[in-house]
Amino acid sequence: MSAQEYEYKAEMQQLLHLIINSLYTHPEVFLRELISNASDALSKVRFRLLTDKNILNPDAPLRVNIRVDSKEQTFEIEDAGCGMTHDELIERIGTVASSGTLEFVKTMKESGKKADDLIGQFGVGFYSVFMVADEVTVETRHMNPDSKGYRWRSDGKGKFTIEEVALKNRGTTISFKLKDDFKEYAYDYRLKSIIEKYSNFVGFDIYVGKDKVNTVSALWQKNREEVTDEEKKEFYKFISHDFGDPLDGLHLSIEGAVNFKALLFVPERAPMGMFREEFERSLKLYSNRVFIQDDCRELLPEYLRYIRGVVDTEDLPLNVSREVTQASPAMRKINSILTDKVLKMHEEMSEDEEKYAKFFGEFGGILKTGLNVEMKHKDRLIDLLRFESTKTEAGKYTTLKAYLEGMAEDQEEIYYLTSEHRKLAERSPNIEYFKKNGIEVLLLLDPVDPFIIQFLGEYEGKKLKTIEMADIDLKDDGEKKDAVTGEKAESLLSAIKTILGDKVEDVVESKRLVDSAATLVAGDSGMDAQTERMMKMMNQDFQASAKILEINMSHPLIRNLSRQHEGKNQDLLESCALQIFEGALLLDGKLEQKSDFVSRMTQFMVQATS
Ligand code: ADP
Repeated sequence: MSAQEYEYKAEMQQLLHLIINSLYTHPEVFLRELISNASDALSKVRFRLLTDKNILNPDAPLRVNIRVDSKEQTFEIEDAGCGMTHDELIERIGTVASSGTLEFVKTMKESGKKADDLIGQFGVGFYSVFMVADEVTVETRHMNPDSKGYRWRSDGKGKFTIEEVALKNRGTTISFKLKDDFKEYAYDYRLKSIIEKYSNFVGFDIYVGKDKVNTVSALWQKNREEVTDEEKKEFYKFISHDFGDPLDGLHLSIEGAVNFKALLFVPERAPMGMFREEFERSLKLYSNRVFIQDDCRELLPEYLRYIRGVVDTEDLPLNVSREVTQASPAMRKINSILTDKVLKMHEEMSEDEEKYAKFFGEFGGILKTGLNVEMKHKDRLIDLLRFESTKTEAGKYTTLKAYLEGMAEDQEEIYYLTSEHRKLAERSPNIEYFKKNGIEVLLLLDPVDPFIIQFLGEYEGKKLKTIEMADIDLKDDGEKKDAVTGEKAESLLSAIKTILGDKVEDVVESKRLVDSAATLVAGDSGMDAQTERMMKMMNQDFQASAKILEINMSHPLIRNLSRQHEGKNQDLLESCALQIFEGALLLDGKLEQKSDFVSRMTQFMVQATS
């Protein structure tokens, strides 16, 4: 039968184009990716053999063979793994792009990162061979006894071909001629040193030529004292596909109601796509040293999804399926113990402020999402939160505990302001009173903050309050200089209110303003500006409720306006009131109709310059 030709989808072509034409810092990752795929394929065989011996060559050794020829510049990697059927060949290394592909392409274009730094993260590992080879051949036969053999071939440009071929054994062989720039990978010694670096922890023997290269060891099974930091780092890099060291780690050996060993890590940097539902956790489940599953979601709660590592338990039956792990009481117990231990690791990490700040900057956004689901450890989680505030430098954090300690005796509430940027927050008119009186305000700058803050409610009996609400308890800081007061003030405020009509809920005298003439705050039923912006983003039809306009009665503009009002200069009062209101809207990022604002402003300038 002749070879059939297939065309890659457009996004696959883009992906391959990027891989082929990128510059690499670590071109040797192709080896890591191929070995990792071979190892996965061998795991599937081992797993199936637990319950079903009826497969092709049941006795073929579960190992990876790599053969190179330095004269011919050829490379070949063979595994007796599960192999692929015809459909799988098309689906998995053919036309259908994995969900990671598009994101990979996007991230690569936007971040300017190198292809090899991103490959492992997006599940596009196989294609990394096109960094080092122009044409690649995959020969494969599925482990089902009645399977057929196939040869897949591609130059990584637009097309690939598949043909049926006679193959005796199950498994997969991938072969290619190395490009001249990469002929170093056709030498045994070079391959061995790479494998020692990246693949020492593969659970199967790897042979380069006749030599076994890796030391297969279940590091987590060893006693804590026996494992060196260096080994742990290597292990972390192996399981995470990360080039950097972990930020922190935890080695557990638990005996009692449930028995398990675990080797867990916090990465130094957040991986791409961490907030997405499909994000693959690198938390692997083993049962008695036998690999069971990647991305085991039952081991830890969602908000700790950045934890990477291995958990190995004796308390699961060997032939576990995903359904069994989900329902198993042993898993629930493991989850409960792990959650406690991992939080404890965070607590210990937080004693080193600098390290913890680094951690929180990367993963705080995820950790916070635990606030609405974590009941048992909510208080611990709250103490692990960090916030910028008016008393920290930009990028530095404080805690709720420290906030409480710094509070004045008569302060009853914890104040916060949500904003997109620290600079915007610092310039908010609403913050003037707090600055002047030295009252600390937490600055919530993370996009998830408006959501999580509602789950916080209060801390140590003190309510958390946004300073953008009308009803905060502000102390009158004495008679304001030259303020408009009494009847004059009332008359002016009510005149402005009449002008603005239902654009505002009310117009009142402000206690919080120092330098600005006016600001908008939310009434009892309203929400702060940042939350409204988020609601608007999620729902175009969202209608924000009308705000209360607060007026600074001692501001020179307001004093002037009061005089104009007395002099019955209604036209000027009207345009000033509208201008003040729209200016406040503008600061909140909510002035939609900008043309009136600008034309009024032009009018004022004409008057001022004539
Ligand atoms: P990932 O391994 O992250 O899924 P890859 O691009 O590396 O992404 O591989 C795509 C898929 O091709 C794998 O998920 C696997 O199903 C299949 N595959 C790759 N190499 C092998 C192999 N040696 N044996 C069996 N299947 C393989």
